[in-house]
Amino acid sequence: MDSLSDEIINRIPSIDFNYCLTCGACVSGCPAAGIDGLDPRKFLRLLLLGYDDRLLDSNWIYACTMCQRCEHACPMGINVGRIVYELRGMRDRDKRPKNLQRSCELQKASNSTGIPNEDFVWVVNDVLEEVRAQEPEWSGLTAPIDKKGAEFFLNQNAKEPTVEPEEMAHLWKILHAVGIDWTYSSKWWDGANYCLFTGDAPDWEYTVRKQAETVDALGVRYYINTE
Ligand code: SF4
Ligand code: SF4
Repeated sequence: MDSLSDEIINRIPSIDFNYCLTCGACVSGCPAAGIDGLDPRKFLRLLLLGYDDRLLDSNWIYACTMCQRCEHACPMGINVGRIVYELRGMRDRDKRPKNLQRSCELQKASNSTGIPNEDFVWVVNDVLEEVRAQEPEWSGLTAPIDKKGAEFFLNQNAKEPTVEPEEMAHLWKILHAVGIDWTYSSKWWDGANYCLFTGDAPDWEYTVRKQAETVDALGVRYYINTE
């Protein structure tokens, strides 16, 4: 196998970290600086000096939020988060953080919490019924599911119907108040994409494609991503 730095250059030809000035500007705004004794500047030094195993085994790549603040601070425009993303994807699946990989696997099957789609539909209708009954001013509130031809598709953080379902109603009320014609879907409704965080491009692409196909099948024009 090529060295890690060669492999990164193959995968991201637009990034040239050989231009790093070791100025440390990237460190100043990095939320992951200091965690596990690493920061973006040290990370690049290790990469350039060939400490491949240390980088591939380091959990710092999961402390990096891939926020890209380093790129904005860097005089050479080097995006360390983009490199981190590739490194995550190079790790064997069974060596990735278990919760992250498990959420991605569940998402590829349906949604990241693994609740049945029927439960999602039931919870939405149950919360809606409760709000209508207990808050007279919202008696006309709606939470459409699989409404063909709606103008907006709303996805949903899967944690809310699972552990704090009443939180979903706040956004419904806003959409209702401004007269938005929207819909959920009864499948591929999860807005999170844990496969992005595992760094696995084929997994990520698969879940996004399934969501996009669902939106297209409903004939919806706009996609509201709440995540
Ligand atoms: S992308 Fe990673 S390395 Fe860059 S600033 Fe954000 S956390 Fe730090
Ligand atoms: S800001 Fe850019 S040039 Fe400076 S140390 Fe960080 S990556 Fe290197």
